[in-house]
Amino acid sequence: MDESQHCRFASRCPMYPKFKNEFGLNVFKTSYCHSSRHEQCSRFALASKGTMPPADLLPNGKTLPAA
Ligand code: SF4
Repeated sequence: MDESQHCRFASRCPMYPKFKNEFGLNVFKTSYCHSSRHEQCSRFALASKGTMPPADLLPNGKTLPAA
């Protein structure tokens, strides 16, 4: 895995603890956080502008359903 492709917020992304389902989280990690596609993450766009988005905003722009 090429670490240089990783999102710089991956070590402290507030979305991670929201997931009770490890599998679901790993899908997003693989699709966004640990790839060059993190630049297309909805969270990344806001966080890069200095506004950390709500923890339940997903990379695809949807909202994580309340458990
Ligand atoms: S969810 Fe988005 S902002 Fe958070 S670590 Fe993954 S790519 Fe970065």
